Order: sequence, then structure tokens, then C-alpha cells
Amino acid sequence: MGTPTKKQKFVFYDSESSKVEGIIFNADIARMSPMLQVYKKYKISNADVRTIPPKFQTLGLTKQWVITSKTVIEEVNGSEDIMPVKFSFTQFADLAEYMDDRSKSVDVLGVVISSLAKKTITKNSKQSNVQKFVLLNEECEMSQTVLLSLWDDFLNNEGQVLLNNMQSYPVIIGRRLKVTNYNGVALSTWFDSALLVDPPIQEARQLKNWAMRNAKLIAEIIDAKSYIKYNPALCFKPDQKTTLICNVIPSQKTVWVKAKLSFEHIFQKYWYMSCAKCCRATAADYGIEFTCNLCKEKGPAMPRCRFDVDLSDDSGVIPASIFGDLAENILTFTALEAMDHFNQNLELPLEFVHARLKTKTFLVHVKPVQTQLADARQRYTILYCSEVEPEFGHAQLTGEPESVSVSAHQQTENEHLLMTGDGGSGSKVRLRLSQKFDEAETVDNNDFESSDANSKKKAKLG
Ligand SMILES: [Zn+2]
Repeated sequence: MGTPTKKQKFVFYDSESSKVEGIIFNADIARMSPMLQVYKKYKISNADVRTIPPKFQTLGLTKQWVITSKTVIEEVNGSEDIMPVKFSFTQFADLAEYMDDRSKSVDVLGVVISSLAKKTITKNSKQSNVQKFVLLNEECEMSQTVLLSLWDDFLNNEGQVLLNNMQSYPVIIGRRLKVTNYNGVALSTWFDSALLVDPPIQEARQLKNWAMRNAKLIAEIIDAKSYIKYNPALCFKPDQKTTLICNVIPSQKTVWVKAKLSFEHIFQKYWYMSCAKCCRATAADYGIEFTCNLCKEKGPAMPRCRFDVDLSDDSGVIPASIFGDLAENILTFTALEAMDHFNQNLELPLEFVHARLKTKTFLVHVKPVQTQLADARQRYTILYCSEVEPEFGHAQLTGEPESVSVSAHQQTENEHLLMTGDGGSGSKVRLRLSQKFDEAETVDNNDFESSDANSKKKAKLG
């Protein structure tokens, strides 16, 4: 157990699988801990034997050996046997249950297939180093990934071992890891965690063999880099419990709501210029290669879709912002298209989108925004949203169209619009909608007004 804490616990097994807890305190940790390696055999004598007070008992252990600098420890050599130890691991798909709960931690098993860039973070004027590693496991015959952040000592110790052995598919057991809400669900070390690299246990050997047999699949996963995005498979349960909007409070780390999305009455720009690598805002012009001040990477400035919506159910309304692919899917325009319209001082033609959204309900995963804006209203960020299948779907199919104001012609277009992917068909949709927009502008005075307002807004935003 590489990273010391002020109280370090061990579990000792003998050849008959009977167990006893070992514990080292304070200054003795630095001296004694390196002498005890996980999965090695030792002869230990002169340890103090104590009965563990019931409130400190874990894993059903009642006896404790206190290891001090006076304890005699001798390694018993010549054994590479697989240990008779069984851990119970949390499946990646079940991690969400343990999220952001200070009293809960998890043990996981995974093969490390890749790492992201190391970062230095300053928090409360203390610098910390952190690096994310990609864990993979096979669950329910599907490969599942999750990111694990290694902090400071874990990064310097076990992290270096992992980085040096990345090609050989190192398998790790992570013990007492925290489940965080990064990207929906992720893992992180904290003071009490322990990492075991390539432990000699059956499950780890099996996973390593599986990884070696599936080198091609793993190369594809690394290539696609989908693990850097929100993973609905980890966060989203078929029977996902939701919170009424009136009960959403900012102290919750993340929350699921079942809500309507609307932004018809919100006058706004639908994009911002971003660093293509980290998505954070930049003043660089479109397509210009620049070195990002925040992620330090060099790349082109790209427009990214972003806009505000109201999330509402029968109990209340909260304001939320939606970004990237999720935002483009709701908007039915790409960030590039939104930027083009903005630059030409044209309003995005969104009538269909607004009409369509009124008929839809979404399952939405939100998290509170930390920084407060001037209006003091708590804002939220949409991490994920997916349309809820209408519960009365069959009735709608056989009954009247939901909206009588939509003509048959428009409805066909609508459906076409919904069926088209966000690929090549996007520009076709835009053309048709732009045409419609031009017609509207010549007959409706209101559009001139809003167009005028838009240019004012543009001067302010741009
Ligand atoms: Zn960046």
C-alpha cells in the first residue's frame, strides 16, 4: 500500500485464510509501511495484539496487531502463488450509486489502457498534481471505461509504475476510491485510497489475459477517445429516479429531473468561440491556431454551441445551460451554422424547434453552476439529456396531431428534420429553414425589430 496515511491498516491472511488486522500509527508509518508489501509473505513477531473496539471494526475483523518500529518483520521468500484472497468489486455500471457521498467509497478492478495529460491545480494556494487514467473492464460482455484521477503521491508512486508499463496492460485494484461526478461518473484517489498494480489474484490475471486477447478492441477504444465524454451507460439507469424541480437544491452535486426544455423567450447567442481541445472560451478568431492559456495546447479556435434553456415540470422552473453536441441536437443547428447566422446578422429559424420541444419531455442530468451571476438565481449545467418516450405514444399515433396549427406540409418537414442526423443533411435543413425565414422577414415587422435587437446584442457580445 504505497501511499502512507496517519493510520495505515493492513489485512494479514494465513495459509488457512484466517484474517487479522494490522495497523501502524503516525511516525511509524513512514518507517514500517515500506517493509510490508501487498501480496508478499512475512513472518511477524513482537506485534502488540489488541481487541478492536466494536465501532472501529471493519471487514468483520476483531483482533488487531499494532506494528511499531520494534516489531520484527521477516519476508518469507520464494512464493509467486496466487493468493487465496477475494475482493468484492463494484461494477463500473453501479458506480453512480456511490457518487459524491463522503461516507462511501468503492473498490474496483480494471486494466489501465491510457492516460490523459498531467495537470497542476492550485486549490487554497496549495498546488496539486493530478492525472487521469483510463480504466477498462468487461461487464455484461461489454467493454466499459471509467476515468480514474490519481493525485499527488498516488501519481508519483503507482502512477509512474502505470505510465512505465502502459504497453503491458497493467491491471489495478483501486481500493477506497471516491466516485465523483466528472463527466457524469469518474473515480478519484483520496487520502485513504490504495492502489495495487498487477496484484497476484485470479481476477486480475484473468483481466490481463482478456486485455491481451483484445488488443485490437483496446486500440480502437483509445483511438475513439469516447471515455473523455459523458458516458450515459455509466450514469443513466433504465429506472432512473428523478427529483421534482421544486426540490432541486444547489447543494446537490448532480440531480436528475424529468422536464420540458424551452428557450423560445430567451434572446441569446447560440455559440461561443472555444479552444478546440478544452472547449473553454477564447478571444481568438475562427480557425486561427493559438496556444490556449488554460489547457496550454495548440489548436484552432472553433465555435461551440451553447445556450440557455428553462427546465420545467409541474412543480417549478430552473434555468440551465446546454453545451456542445447536446446543444446542437436540441437546436438542430451546428455551432458553425449558428455562427454563420450570427455573423450575417440573421436570426436562427427556430420555430419548428420551439413547437417540437413543447411536445417533448426529457430526462435531464444537471449540476449546479458554482459561480453566481448578477441576478443571484442559481443556474445549472446540463450534463446529459435524453428524450423520454411519450407514455401515451400509441394514443398520439392514432389520435389527432398534437398541434393543430402545424400544417400537414410542415409536419412532414418536421419529421424529416427530426430524422436527419447531424451530418451532411444539416446544411440542407438550414437552407430550407433559411428560405422560410426570409419569407417571414418580409411579411412580419416583428422580425425586423428582433433583427435590430440582435445586432445590438451582437455589438455587445462580439
Ligand atoms: Zn484549451
